[in-house]
Amino acid sequence: MQRRAKIVATIGPSSADRDTLRSLLDAGVDVCRLNLSHGSRDDHRSLFERIREVSEEDGRFVAVLMDLMGPRYRLGEVREGRSLEVDEVVSLGIGDGVDLQVTDRQIVEALEPGHRILIDNGLVEARVVSRRAGKVRAKITFGGPVSTRKGLNLPDSDLPFEISRKDREDIKLAVELGADYLAASYVGEARDVNAIRRVVRQAGGTVPIVAKIERRRAIDHLEEIIESADAVMVARGDLGVEVETSEVPILQKRMIDVSWRLGRPVIVATQMLESMMEHPRPTRAEASDVANAVFDGADAVMLSGETAAGNYPVEVVQTMDRIVREAERHVHQAIHRGPGGVGSTTSASAAHRLSEGLFDLEPPARPGMLEIPETITWAAVVSARRLGAKFIVVLTKGGYTARMLACRRPSTPVIALTQSARAGRALQLVWGLRPLHMQGDVYHHDEVVGLVDRHLLAAGLVEPGDEIAILMGDPIQGRPPTNLLRLHRVVDSRADSGNAGEAPQGKAS
Ligand code: PEP
Repeated sequence: MQRRAKIVATIGPSSADRDTLRSLLDAGVDVCRLNLSHGSRDDHRSLFERIREVSEEDGRFVAVLMDLMGPRYRLGEVREGRSLEVDEVVSLGIGDGVDLQVTDRQIVEALEPGHRILIDNGLVEARVVSRRAGKVRAKITFGGPVSTRKGLNLPDSDLPFEISRKDREDIKLAVELGADYLAASYVGEARDVNAIRRVVRQAGGTVPIVAKIERRRAIDHLEEIIESADAVMVARGDLGVEVETSEVPILQKRMIDVSWRLGRPVIVATQMLESMMEHPRPTRAEASDVANAVFDGADAVMLSGETAAGNYPVEVVQTMDRIVREAERHVHQAIHRGPGGVGSTTSASAAHRLSEGLFDLEPPARPGMLEIPETITWAAVVSARRLGAKFIVVLTKGGYTARMLACRRPSTPVIALTQSARAGRALQLVWGLRPLHMQGDVYHHDEVVGLVDRHLLAAGLVEPGDEIAILMGDPIQGRPPTNLLRLHRVVDSRADSGNAGEAPQGKAS
């Protein structure tokens, strides 16, 4: 069975050479992430180009996601060996004459008595006692060592979202290189996502934006942020610093649910197979974590340090691929065993999201969805299942109908046929979609059917006589929204037309 949930892998020193990159793609990576918090712009450019070269040499669609650093607040210089004791009261501020320097005046202005200050991923915690004359006094509630430039999280404070000069330069680079996604770190409201989008536009691009949900403030504005973004990342690393760790699993489910309802692909990220940085096998808890993200209905699961800096970058992707496939096989079997199977073994949300029966009965109502594509994607899912069709093939330009189809989590595998390499790459992030490059101009829906047959036959995906469901917009040249469903038996006309072309891009992964 084709894997439906996608794999995002962060590329770094352990995986940046050509051979390892190729092995990662062979092992099933659909999206490569560049973490712009580390390394120079020249490094990112050459890595980006290498990923494109390797994936194009192998005829695959691979998306590149460039992840911005975002507004990070930090400590300034700290004397070596400094450790903070519980109940100690320290002063924070700009410049000399304070116990702990911070990098921005805004930090001091945003802190009010009672607010928490989390240092170094929350390992050290302080609570503000008072603020006076540009200085904050805070009492240490969790002690420990602190050092120069350690990160600060201020979960209770109303810090404005500002796009740093570094992020602006990185956005320009992403636009220039043609990145497939840009991840916006530390957004707190929809207007922060919109501000990033404005900078993208000013740079002359239209890169889709992944909103990283990692602040308490973002949780309070979840729906509007997801609505304003093109995709979502459950960024559990920073989120787990800003909220209680015990809240993270529930928030993960809520974010996946809202994203699915609003039709946005959602990535579950961070520490999924962390122990594999050092060891060739994951812990049982990690295997469960990956499988549970699949049961929750995530579009993609992500690897960070595991592939960027770990000792087993290829093995960790192979492991993730196996866990996802096993989880999906189980869901598939459970659905076919009936309601007891799903309810007894997977979560309620999985049963809801992954049971085709519920999807058939209850198509999600999404604001702004066009009525005809909404109805026809539903019809395609139901008809393909009734027919036992081998594939649903959706012809797509920008990817909208393909994404909508994926939202229905069809049990029939989906092929997204597109003339746009850009759309093909971007669709790699979306659950269940297998993009395939389509060549050739067509003027009538009958020609489309012939073209679909030739492409699927050339890619070795079907045999003559296989039944498929095709979704397209008709009349073709008028570029209408998807409005036509054709149920069809594949015919091999390649010998007479001589028009099969080469094997299309979009090799199976
Ligand atoms: C996270 O915090 O979980 C995350 C993905 O962001 P980063 O790795 O950029 O800190």
